Amino acid sequence: MSGPALAFRDALTRLSSALPSVDENLADLDIESQARAVLRYVVHQVLYGSPREVNLVALETGKCPNCGVGAICKRSPYCGDECRETASFVRQFRSGLSEGSIFEPDRQVAFGQNLWYMVGGGRPLRRALIPPKDWAKVLDRQGGKCATCEGIATTIDHIDTACNRTINLIGVCDPCSKTKPFAEATVVNTELFQRKISEIAARVGAVEPMRPCDQAETWDWRAYLRG
Ligand SMILES: [Zn+2]
Ligand SMILES: [Zn+2]
Repeated sequence: MSGPALAFRDALTRLSSALPSVDENLADLDIESQARAVLRYVVHQVLYGSPREVNLVALETGKCPNCGVGAICKRSPYCGDECRETASFVRQFRSGLSEGSIFEPDRQVAFGQNLWYMVGGGRPLRRALIPPKDWAKVLDRQGGKCATCEGIATTIDHIDTACNRTINLIGVCDPCSKTKPFAEATVVNTELFQRKISEIAARVGAVEPMRPCDQAETWDWRAYLRG
């Protein structure tokens, strides 16, 4: 292996031992440590996982740089939020590895909760930060009913962004809630989880960036948008 490839692997190995283990009972850790532990799914896939086939569509002018399928819109090169978020995660993770900021626990918390959201687990850490009065306000606004099934609302989901303003929150019952604890097996065992972790791990672990949007130093979204 060449010099830079070795340095990259070394950083990932150090990161692996710096993160809380996913093998221990996650529910016993505080919620920030749980968010950090989520990153191990990506790191372990890069270091020890069997290489999975990642089908990245060839890029053409006018196509989303993340998926190669969706069309770019006027203001953003991406086809939508999901692709923008995935590309941003990969790019920032790669740059954090090379400049060392990935070793800051606060950065790990941010990366871990973004990853959990992308694999379908919602935003449990953001939800834990909602003040009780806002929690009550959201449930009251709906007369205590679940926004999805009209059962009894017992918990809260984010509608769209990670913003904790009450306008961005809805009350739901536990079965309807899309916000899952960081240790939730029903998220980890899904096809979406496997596919996302594989793709992100392949792009994070690639010595040469697999996408132009994966490399912070060279990515120029305005130039890409102009075509
Ligand atoms: Zn896309
Ligand atoms: Zn419900």
